[in-house]
Amino acid sequence: MALAVTSTSIASSSSLRAEQVVQLNTTTFQPSDRAHMVSPMVLSLSVKRSVAVKALNAESRRNDAIVTSAATTFAPDVMEKSVEVEDFEKLAKDLENSSPLEIMDKALEKYGNDIAIAFSGAEDVALIEYAHLTGRPYRVFSLDTGRLNPETYKFFDAVEKHYNIRIEYMFPDSVEVQALVRTKGLFSFYEDGHQECCRLRKVRPLRRALKGLRAWITGQRKDQSPGTRSQVPVVQVDPVFEGLDGGSGSLVKWNPVANVAGNDIWNFLRTMDVPVNSLHAQGYVSIGCEPCTRAVLPGQHEREGRWWWEDAKAKECGLHKGNIKEESVNANANGNDTLHANGSVSDIFNSDDILSLTRPGMENLLKMEGRKDPWIVVLYAPWCQFCQAMEASYVELAEKLGGSGMKVGKFRADGDEKAFAQQELQLGSFPTILFFPKHSSRPIKYSSEKRDVDSLMAFVNALR
Ligand code: SF4
Repeated sequence: MALAVTSTSIASSSSLRAEQVVQLNTTTFQPSDRAHMVSPMVLSLSVKRSVAVKALNAESRRNDAIVTSAATTFAPDVMEKSVEVEDFEKLAKDLENSSPLEIMDKALEKYGNDIAIAFSGAEDVALIEYAHLTGRPYRVFSLDTGRLNPETYKFFDAVEKHYNIRIEYMFPDSVEVQALVRTKGLFSFYEDGHQECCRLRKVRPLRRALKGLRAWITGQRKDQSPGTRSQVPVVQVDPVFEGLDGGSGSLVKWNPVANVAGNDIWNFLRTMDVPVNSLHAQGYVSIGCEPCTRAVLPGQHEREGRWWWEDAKAKECGLHKGNIKEESVNANANGNDTLHANGSVSDIFNSDDILSLTRPGMENLLKMEGRKDPWIVVLYAPWCQFCQAMEASYVELAEKLGGSGMKVGKFRADGDEKAFAQQELQLGSFPTILFFPKHSSRPIKYSSEKRDVDSLMAFVNALR
């Protein structure tokens, strides 16, 4: 296969001369009549350049991982760009009402060959379609974790053929994966969480990829995860990863479909007759690795199909962990917008129908065998934005349950109570909702991210 030959021949070079790259690519790829493919003019420009297309994984320690020639298409290098001179908050505001196509065009125009689309193998194929529609050259990379569904690999192939591109795959470090699997087995993430495996198979390869870029393009949308993605701007200085120049602020993250609803993405894909992953037809919405992705039922949120055995708000694989706000993971958070001038925090879930429980009250509830009434209790922190977001629905739930024999309570579980709540009450993140059945002390945890009153009522009715 041509790709294998080229990867061997260029393995040790991250600064190939343009002539070499052009030679490799003219033998690897077939000519295309598509607007975005390499035109003779671009080729001749490439020949004249003294520095060729940069490898995505410029930092790679192992020669066998470098596949420089797999670059999707050539784009003129945009050198000497400084991400620090631009006010990206202002740019995000300016582009807030722009279409994804306009945002994509702006991103490609500004960064040329220093930007690439991160493609997961799901409906973010829309990004590739938008890039194609701009008529500009673009690059696409993807993380092959080694644990993807066969359907996803077939989809990658279909996308490459449809757009006549090569996706720049990034692979995990084989020595690191080997050590994890030999030590903990193939499915350790079911027992001690997905973070370690994701770190090796996704985050580190991504970090290597991004070190070869000045900007990247993601398919993040605000409606994908009410817990972690509700604030995603269309463009931002990447809060987590570094780009080519190194250091904080050296990478810009574009999210052209941040404001687009999932339904509209699908309408777009259908209208444009774009190939899609066949797993979608089987009920999969958000698609990741095979062991960590499942189909969801109608009405279930798409993120419920990912890492379903873990707490809802931890459902970021590390690729976008800048979305997880500090106050969401740290019970001792300081800054928040509910602070009074004297530094105290307003309490929430204030209602005559909601009983405020203390630590002894919770211990009693835990021990109480054959309690007279069932209870539903929210473990919360008043500064947590997700608790604040469900306040109205929980108060309404308590009103509806008034006089039904069902007790509704709240327990503030941050600060000194956090360790107890984590150990005894299954607290992973705020809010955690527990149902204490009438005849058993063992609480049942509400695992859905849907916290509207109807969903909460359905949970209660199913158990009482
Ligand atoms: Fe590992 Fe699952 Fe993360 Fe894939 S999604 S890298 S299999 S933990």
